Amino acid sequence: MKLVLASNNSRKLRELDAILAPLGWTLVRQGELDIPEAAEPHCTFVENALAKARQAARLSGLPALADDSGLCVDALGGAPGVQSARYAGEPRTDERNNARLLSDLAALPAGTPRSARFVALIVFVRHADDPQPIIAEGEWPGEILAAPRGDDGFGYDPVFFLPELGKTAAELEAAEKNRRSHRGQALARLVERLRSVRR
Ligand code: IMP
Repeated sequence: MKLVLASNNSRKLRELDAILAPLGWTLVRQGELDIPEAAEPHCTFVENALAKARQAARLSGLPALADDSGLCVDALGGAPGVQSARYAGEPRTDERNNARLLSDLAALPAGTPRSARFVALIVFVRHADDPQPIIAEGEWPGEILAAPRGDDGFGYDPVFFLPELGKTAAELEAAEKNRRSHRGQALARLVERLRSVRR
């Protein structure tokens, strides 16, 4: 059974394909079907993921899968949140986003808590108007350091510190990060729920 992925990110496709192929799903990137990227105008991850999945389902006539993720910092009211990829504007780079985050936090009174969490939402719709989408969420709590540390990972990984491990996400092996991360948790939940989808 075919399933459209509302993303053209080949890293995501490979990761999802390895998990979904054994369940009998064949993933197709939306770009292969000439489906453009959907707008992400909403202020929550779940609304943006749903908007992307619905558009891909509508334009393909197939079931669709979409995700949205980002970093939420408590002292910043949940920012960067859905703006995580473009927090420092254009050009979009991880270095500029991290620099803006650290300067936003540095401007707060000394002693302000630096608690934060990565959030991932993955959404599956059977068709564009599916009244009961499958929604899987994962959360990964940590703290924002005052300066980056570590060379692996991407995005905010170098400033995202895990007190129980004494390491940033950029200091973890990829396999360990995938096991613990918001995305890993959301994926595990999604797979569990997808087993019950009637085809
Ligand atoms: P997207 O959901 O792939 O568009 O990711 C949104 C943005 O959130 C990314 O560009 C990163 O800035 C940030 N982000 C999401 N997941 C992670 C992660 O695992 N590590 C670091 N940054 C992340």
